[in-house]
Amino acid sequence: MPIQDPGLDVTLREPVGVCALITPWNFPLVISTWKIAPALACGNTIVVKPASYTPLSVLRLAEILIEAGLPPEAISVLPGPGSAVGNALVTDPRVNKVGFTGSTEVGSKIMALAARNITRVSLELGGKSANVVFADADIDTAVERSVWSVFGNTGQDCCARSRVFVERPAYDDFVAAMAKRTDELRVGPPLDEGTELGPMISAGQRETSLEYLEIGQKEGARLVTGGEIPQVAGGEGGFYLRPAVLADVRNDTRVAQEEIFGPVACLISFDTEEEAIRLANETEYGLSGSIWTRDLGRAIRVAKAIRTGVISVNSSHSVHTEAPFGGYKRSGIGREMGMHAVNLYTEVKNVYFSES
Ligand code: NAD
Repeated sequence: MPIQDPGLDVTLREPVGVCALITPWNFPLVISTWKIAPALACGNTIVVKPASYTPLSVLRLAEILIEAGLPPEAISVLPGPGSAVGNALVTDPRVNKVGFTGSTEVGSKIMALAARNITRVSLELGGKSANVVFADADIDTAVERSVWSVFGNTGQDCCARSRVFVERPAYDDFVAAMAKRTDELRVGPPLDEGTELGPMISAGQRETSLEYLEIGQKEGARLVTGGEIPQVAGGEGGFYLRPAVLADVRNDTRVAQEEIFGPVACLISFDTEEEAIRLANETEYGLSGSIWTRDLGRAIRVAKAIRTGVISVNSSHSVHTEAPFGGYKRSGIGREMGMHAVNLYTEVKNVYFSES
């Protein structure tokens, strides 16, 4: 860059060093690659710590990378419990950078642990994202996509748009249409071609969703459909749950504020654009979001006003590998993907060459 002193000033990007990449169970392969690919491309060596439930896909990926020519010393995969293996990695002085995806609770612990050695940290954490549907939207499409944006991966998705705000004139019809479409979803074994929703990861995860359904109803919400444990032929032993729609939810209740990480949609009505923005922002999270409207000016205003790392208009997309992804507020720090990932996996060095 041009500088005042005589000479030449050059800025270099260098690898951070050893990166500990700690990942969750909900998209075990995909989320790992979001970290592994840019970390290696930036010249780092990596230690991947997959979630205890889901180590196999990353172990296989590491084998494939080595078969493809990656020096074996550039990658290690260390499965094991977060409390032991994860903790040891985050506090090890040989680790220069921690890239973490998981819950906000664990992310906060990791940030505190990493502070000991001033280890670089990036965090992709939880969410409780808003799906804002205005009455002028293409309601059929909004219903179809809203169903998937909350129930996809059986609701175990950090980007789940689980707070569905619907403008009052469209609200009743939207609730009925969403309940109908939800009822039609085919819950079944993941390897069946016809299955739309598979089981949840564990008995505990399903129990949490069931507890929230009770909490929601005690808080005054109306269970419109779902929440039953179905009998699934060929799925014996799986933790299945019918996706549930809670209507007339208040945004300040637990069911609307806490991340459930299961197939539970909270439907909430609103009257004005200002109210929709206020409600969407009344959350400790800020990861994803959608806006449904045919009014371009409104789409621009609302997209700019909602405090979230990612938002899509007339779409339920959250992630494009070319574009930055990450959270505001308690949803995280840093942006993965695209060119932004380079900031996570490099140090910046300034070199000045004097003329004299
Ligand atoms: P989690 O926080 O329980 O675990 C994530 C990873 O951290 C696992 O590998 C776990 O073993 C490890 N870990 C646990 N305790 C640790 C410790 N003390 N030190 C170091 N590592 C530790 O999360 P989960 O249950 O696997 O995944 C669900 C959560 O992840 C949800 O909150 C979800 O929103 C979030 N998530 C966020 C994104 C995102 O991109 N923002 C994506 C997927 C999931």
